[in-house]
Amino acid sequence: MFDALADRLEDAWKKLRGQDKITEANMQDALKEVRRALLEADVNLQVVKTFIAEVEKAAIGAEVIAGVNPGQQLIKIVYDELVKVMGESNVPLAQAEKSPTVILMAGLQGTGKTTATAKLSLYLRKQERTCLMVATDIYRPAAIDQLKTLGEQIEVPVFELGTQANPVDIATQGVAKAKEMGIDTVIIDTAGRLQIDEEMMLELARVKKAVNPDDTLLVVDAMTGQEAANLTRTFHEQIGVTGAILTKMDGDTRGGAALSVRQISGQPIKFVGVGEKVEALQPFYPDRMASRILSMGDVLTLVEKAQEEIDLSDVEQMQSKILEAKFDFNDFLKQMRLMKNMGSFGSILKMIPGMNKLSSTDIEKGEGELKRTEAMISSMTLEERKNPDLLAKSPNRRRRIAKGSGHPEAEVSKLIKNFTRMRGMMQQMGQGGMPAMPGMGGG
Ligand code: GDP
Repeated sequence: MFDALADRLEDAWKKLRGQDKITEANMQDALKEVRRALLEADVNLQVVKTFIAEVEKAAIGAEVIAGVNPGQQLIKIVYDELVKVMGESNVPLAQAEKSPTVILMAGLQGTGKTTATAKLSLYLRKQERTCLMVATDIYRPAAIDQLKTLGEQIEVPVFELGTQANPVDIATQGVAKAKEMGIDTVIIDTAGRLQIDEEMMLELARVKKAVNPDDTLLVVDAMTGQEAANLTRTFHEQIGVTGAILTKMDGDTRGGAALSVRQISGQPIKFVGVGEKVEALQPFYPDRMASRILSMGDVLTLVEKAQEEIDLSDVEQMQSKILEAKFDFNDFLKQMRLMKNMGSFGSILKMIPGMNKLSSTDIEKGEGELKRTEAMISSMTLEERKNPDLLAKSPNRRRRIAKGSGHPEAEVSKLIKNFTRMRGMMQQMGQGGMPAMPGMGGG
């Protein structure tokens, strides 16, 4: 799936290459792919529409960054927007000034609410906080047992009053018990149903009113996909949530539910569940989730690196040199070193969609070629670098360079021939962007 998406985006974005501004017209194809990618990642349709409109606003008129094609830049804009919508940074659990902090867990049955209750307790315990778990699901006797078993496993006490008591009473007494025991956090597990159910909602609202929680966390199964949006809307309207936990992120879902939950409730996702074990809980990081939703990963790193490393005045200078056919070996060397600054050749290539299929032998070959090329250029005099025609005309000079660099004369000749050809091509392309870099020696 990863490759297919990256390839498709690349196709759409090929059309954008060579254009210096992102406009409403030239980005439509690419936006269509983004839209499809988000839908494939299970983001709700309505949420996608709103989101794409935002991206379009952010992208129109953006200057294309030198060294990056507009398509890659658009991914960056989409990514930034995703991170923004999902809340920029991790939002921790609420902590009341006066103990105990009360956390209410809400959600449908089977989403992983009970598991998440235990996971959270363990997480807090590791931070030296003490917890009490409260079992209010009186409808399924197994639910109370499940929480008790988990409690034993993680050594966290469980408060319960059996299946005959009223959930509101259990919750209230649980909080009182925690106060009495000097425990700092109470986590209340509640009953879920398979579907949204009026009675369940009313009961949840009553429990909430009675204990006045510091955090009301909606537990959402990431595999729910599109439905996560409706679910969030209902719970948020009827109960009022202050955050969410997205479970089952260890599955093959791309996590689009995260975007839906956040956009619809306006509340942060605080944790993700990544497995059945009680340890499998991680704080939610919007940037990581954005990468996963786009499944574009490292392209972003490439764009960021290019933004950091490339001095725009350098690039402009180089472009005008290309136009005037003055691009010489000095410029070539400069570009090569620029690329080296950005990381190894292999790591850069791998960041480019479609290039991740390159074998390590290909990459080693490319890297070796770059090294040889650099050695040969280093053996040229400054005059020769400025005026490659000198080399084309003089076998003596080529022989000297071959000796100096320790590479065969034929290879030097090939480098010069390829360079001359490339320069000719660049002139023809006229206003083409950054010239192709590697591959000079091998042809
Ligand atoms: P509840 O009905 O909402 O309380 O759900 P449970 O806590 O009983 O979880 C339902 C099922 O989902 C159980 O089999 C859990 O082991 C499983 N589960 C919960 N969280 C995760 C998770 O993050 N990843 C995976 N793979 N399974 C999970």
